[in-house]
Amino acid sequence: MIRQNLHTHSIYCDGKDIIEEMVCEAVRKGFTILGFSGHGPCAVDDCAMSESGLEKYIRDVHAVQEKYRDKIHIFLGIEEDMMQRIPSKDPYDYVIGSKHFVKLNGQVKSIDYSEAVSREIVEMYNGDFLRFAQDYYADISRMAEFDEVDIIGHLDLLTKFNEDESFISFHDPAYLSFAEECIDILTGAGKILEVNTGAIARGYRRMPYPEKQLLSYIHEKGGKILLSSDCHDRMMLDCFYRESLELIRKCGFTSMMYLTEGGFQEAPLDEFR
Ligand SMILES: [Zn+2]
Ligand SMILES: [Zn+2]
Repeated sequence: MIRQNLHTHSIYCDGKDIIEEMVCEAVRKGFTILGFSGHGPCAVDDCAMSESGLEKYIRDVHAVQEKYRDKIHIFLGIEEDMMQRIPSKDPYDYVIGSKHFVKLNGQVKSIDYSEAVSREIVEMYNGDFLRFAQDYYADISRMAEFDEVDIIGHLDLLTKFNEDESFISFHDPAYLSFAEECIDILTGAGKILEVNTGAIARGYRRMPYPEKQLLSYIHEKGGKILLSSDCHDRMMLDCFYRESLELIRKCGFTSMMYLTEGGFQEAPLDEFR
């Protein structure tokens, strides 16, 4: 059986746990694959790792990789924000590409900070959420050209505070068309999309990213996915995993991706838990 999380934060960025505590909890919860993905250094991101923190992070992950070799497969990754790409894929085993910020008229605002800030972003678009969504998905599509990126993080993060659909209906045809075009481009480039339960763990959402309709669309287009918890607290390492596997199955998927020492591989959905 495969139990994997490749989206994991620690005290080096905005997570609660030291690297080794996270590994021990992963082993206790029966994970077979754990990847760390600290926020890569990014000038506009208060949550990102510092350059000196990054060096320690890399050393720490390599140390647990060795120490727990017989118990769990550990990988060194990074979550790169589009605002500041990493200079090189080396030394990382994999890279998550994410968009956390909107830059408009010289202002930079965080997409996932709070509902109030999300409203400010929409105001920057003269109250037109669709224009925001169009820009957002067009920007994320650019990651198709980012060779270092393996996984696209939380595809529809812009709907973090939209559980009640107060910003936009998840069925809005224009909204869906922007998201679907983005999915076409990313899956066409072979990027893996993640089903991300992080906002559930932190009480913002009841369902993972991407929203069900988009997840079904990814399946229709032959897109590859994996499940992750965007973990910032080791107690939430497997948050909503059982329910998400059910959702993934309902959306038509029969397989998911997992990471090995030789790169990404695909396995039948039945092998995941
Ligand atoms: Zn993120
Ligand atoms: Zn993250």
